[in-house]
Amino acid sequence: MDKSKIIQAPKGTFDILPTEQKYWEKVRRVVALVGAQYGFERIDTPIFEGTDLFERSVGQETDIVEKQMYTFKTKGKDSLTLRPEGTASVVRSYIENGLNSWPQPVRLYYVGPMFRYEQPQSERYRQFHQFGFELIGDSHPIYDAWLINIALVALRELGLHKTVVAINSIGDAKCRPVYRKALVAYYKNKVGQLCEDCKRRYKTNPLRLLDCKEHHCSEVAAKAPNLVDHLCEECRNHFKSVLEYLDEQKISYMLNPHLVRGLDYYTKTVFQLYAEESLEILSGNSNSHKNPLELGGGGRYDMLAQQLGGKNTPALGFAMGIERIISLMRKNNIKVSELKKPEVFLVQLGELGRKKSLTLFEKLREGGIDVVESFGRDNIKSQLRAADKIKVRYAVIVGQKEALEEAAIIREMTSGTQETIPFDKIVNELKKRLRQAPPVSS
Ligand SMILES: [Zn+2]
Ligand SMILES: [Zn+2]
Repeated sequence: MDKSKIIQAPKGTFDILPTEQKYWEKVRRVVALVGAQYGFERIDTPIFEGTDLFERSVGQETDIVEKQMYTFKTKGKDSLTLRPEGTASVVRSYIENGLNSWPQPVRLYYVGPMFRYEQPQSERYRQFHQFGFELIGDSHPIYDAWLINIALVALRELGLHKTVVAINSIGDAKCRPVYRKALVAYYKNKVGQLCEDCKRRYKTNPLRLLDCKEHHCSEVAAKAPNLVDHLCEECRNHFKSVLEYLDEQKISYMLNPHLVRGLDYYTKTVFQLYAEESLEILSGNSNSHKNPLELGGGGRYDMLAQQLGGKNTPALGFAMGIERIISLMRKNNIKVSELKKPEVFLVQLGELGRKKSLTLFEKLREGGIDVVESFGRDNIKSQLRAADKIKVRYAVIVGQKEALEEAAIIREMTSGTQETIPFDKIVNELKKRLRQAPPVSS
């Protein structure tokens, strides 16, 4: 073992350093706020689940289950999997905890890490984070459109006003098999030209042929029969209503007949949200082979609860990628307030000053003042320099003399004016000064 080798984070993972936390905190705050405004409550499910949960929900023949899951055996020989997405767990919990006895539809949201084995590339990680909204127990198409609106509202609250909605219907158990037949017939004498993945998909999951990113495959897919032309009456009416409710909310959308999403559990409505910069790529007006920047997506999953052993329960939801959202926020220079804005820097001098500064720190903290310390330093100049650097308005200095008098000096940092105040008056004095507008610096 080479102990001098520096240990690094596993491939496809990253640390969220303190300097980044304000963005994450902002996302969590907005998700909680929007959740509350629309009647969604937070749910947390385990990070790992029984492997069969994802095999039965996401689907055996999907990329996720075939290639991307972190699956491991426990000592008791159970097969567990780090969750690759959030919906399956939420529906599992809904069934397991009898949430069908709650007033329906049950509205839940989650925030947390997901895990997929992928080739790391920009904005694609092996541990990534999503927030998601699920609305379980209602089949009305108004909710499909309303949920899309909620996703857009969340993005707007994060400063992302320019997004593109792509939408499609992938039918249900009644009409999808009919379409599948038409699709297989179309591909029958074209399979040889497709990529290896598509050759396999042709046999196992032909719907996925439509959204292959390989150039030639997508050319073949472009001429494939359209799902919407094969919808049964119920699915067609449902889709029509969803679009009308979107119109009513003045939400513009692109119909994308090849949008299928990589999970088996979807029925009827599926949608994806992209950054507006992807519009050219999405509408085929760009020569760039870049993939559009997908922020998230979702859809209806009316069969999922039944697939997991529950009662027939119509439901729908969406999930958004937090890394991509934050990267877009940064790119668009969206201002996010700092988490901590220290107001006061505590300076101490001499051993007695240092000791007293412990008590004073607590006094200030209890008084609601955002204070930072530098207990380890000795030199007053270096402490004042540090105070200057973090731009506090006041330094509170406890020297030997002040410590004996149970007092401290309040120093206004920009002007350098100082005043000695007894410990028991210092909180009120600082609060009074902090309430006043800071002097305009020349
Ligand atoms: Zn392909
Ligand atoms: Zn149908």
